[in-house]
Amino acid sequence: MDQMPLEKYKEKRDFGKTPEPPGEVGKASGIFVVQEHQATHLHWDFRFELGGVLKSWAVPKGVPEEKKTKHLAVEVEDHPLEYASFHGNIPKGEYGAGSVKIWDEGTCVILERDADRYVLELKGKRLNGRYALVRFKGREQKAKNWLIMKL
Ligand code: MN
Repeated sequence: MDQMPLEKYKEKRDFGKTPEPPGEVGKASGIFVVQEHQATHLHWDFRFELGGVLKSWAVPKGVPEEKKTKHLAVEVEDHPLEYASFHGNIPKGEYGAGSVKIWDEGTCVILERDADRYVLELKGKRLNGRYALVRFKGREQKAKNWLIMKL
């Protein structure tokens, strides 16, 4: 598991004594994007900015717009920040071949973060409010399976 952001920076400082900024997670907003990806199987890719990259999940049924609906979200590799504005066609024979459309985009504040859970405040055109991503507990092969839900 990767380190918490700014862990070393925080370890070295007593923010009760130094005027330097503590840089709390959750204070700064980053971006999020949901891309509708018509590949072999239609899915939606949910990505948000953290640590200079886009943390990414493939969501087969899409990100729920209603509260109390939980959808499977499969964690995939981090993507570069510039990917947030990508739309177009990935050529046949290439990885993820098919069309990519931007379904929603906006700002994302990370309110809570640990290895198995994120709580995010999203402000987009379709998605608005608090969302949680929670990792499935259990066997190793399920480690990439999460649930995404609106709180
Ligand atoms: Mn995809």
